Amino acid sequence: MSEYNSEISGFYNLSIKKRRKLLSKLIKFNEDEIKLLENLGYFSESQIDTFIENVIGSYQLPIGIACNFKINNKDYLIPMVIEEPSVVAAASNAAKIARKHGGFHSENVQSVMISQIQITNLKKIEDVKKKLEEHKETILKSANENDPLLVELGGGAFDFEVRELKTRKGDMLIVHLLVDVLDAMGANVVNTMAESISPYIEEISGGKIYLRIVSNLATYRVAKCEATFDKDLLGGREVIEGILNAYEFALADPYRATTHNKGIMNGIIALTIATGNDTRAIESGAHAYAALSGQYSPLTKFEIDSDGNLVGKIEVPLALGIIGGMTKLHPMARLVLKILNIKTANELSQVAAALGLAQNVAALRALASEGIQEGHMVLHSRNIAKLAGVPENMIEKVANKLVQDKKIRVDYAKEILRRMQNNENL
Ligand code: NAD
Repeated sequence: MSEYNSEISGFYNLSIKKRRKLLSKLIKFNEDEIKLLENLGYFSESQIDTFIENVIGSYQLPIGIACNFKINNKDYLIPMVIEEPSVVAAASNAAKIARKHGGFHSENVQSVMISQIQITNLKKIEDVKKKLEEHKETILKSANENDPLLVELGGGAFDFEVRELKTRKGDMLIVHLLVDVLDAMGANVVNTMAESISPYIEEISGGKIYLRIVSNLATYRVAKCEATFDKDLLGGREVIEGILNAYEFALADPYRATTHNKGIMNGIIALTIATGNDTRAIESGAHAYAALSGQYSPLTKFEIDSDGNLVGKIEVPLALGIIGGMTKLHPMARLVLKILNIKTANELSQVAAALGLAQNVAALRALASEGIQEGHMVLHSRNIAKLAGVPENMIEKVANKLVQDKKIRVDYAKEILRRMQNNENL
């Protein structure tokens, strides 16, 4: 590895093959590793080279289907791309429990995104606010000139709000341009608009504009969904009591709320990846929303109805698109939309919210009853067996033994393998 050096000039300009060749010289790939990199899956070389920079190959993850979902009286099979075992099974189980009382009820999700324009160096802020209001029509018209297709389809910039911020660098005026981005995630759409109207806003405000960029805190694009989870199918009153206690714990403690919300994002992000959407936008928006009150809080709420069933509600901003970005370019993402049988970004967000709620209920139920490890580790035991180098034909056997002995550890898997190979009695 003496040649290993990260300073490579012009890597960007090389073809994928030449990048691999160069890496191969530095890292000394074996034949299997070269084959791994050469396998682009469903992408062509020219296609994949345009998605990001310095591409050397493609990266695969498993895709599974969460079953049993009924949302607003329509059935959905939900594709999930995730590396973690037991998540898909958990979502399917919770969806089955919700089905008994009609499934999930999601509200329409508006596709409104916010683009921020930061005006600094202002003398009379009140005068500037007035001027912006007077020029509103011209500003919105000029923003919309950037995207005639979006406007033709019924979307576009329709308003803006102005916020005053006190900062260590003086008072700032922040314009929030509001844009209906329809079926797109919308970041590029609103960024382009904000950049194009900024010179005009700078001129009429007399200030200096720095940032012009989407806000990932999409407070006008909040998905709201609820469902009733049957008390008997959940496991009875004691389990519900445990879930309510877990919820109170999360409400009172950000350490717990973080893990509570991580469970929700297990579902939402798996669908975000499956549809080729921007996971970082969804994550940052959800967590900022969870902290809006000043205390980081759970994104779900729970109560008991008059029959003793558990009612769960979720509220989370979801900037998900079915057009734009990678969504339409990724062959598997297109297939995912076909499996989902959805036609709008609004519907996708409704499904994602239901999935997040289901995931959360499943995790809380497991925590409140058998504990998360039992269900989790049964599936995980196979991965542990693989990690321990157990040959394919013995994985099931070794994994079962790990679960039976409640010792799901690599060292124990190795020991079991050795004993099995020596024909010892286990
Ligand atoms: P885009 O710009 O690729 O495509 C949107 C365009 O599609 C619209 O401008 C419109 O003209 C057209 N369109 C056709 N039919 C439409 C319909 N039915 N609804 C809406 N638009 C339609 O996509 P985008 O959604 O603006 O951008 C998404 C990408 O931006 C993602 O890849 C994301 O990662 C990236 N991004 C994110 C951030 C951020 O989140 N902070 C910042 C920059 C870029």
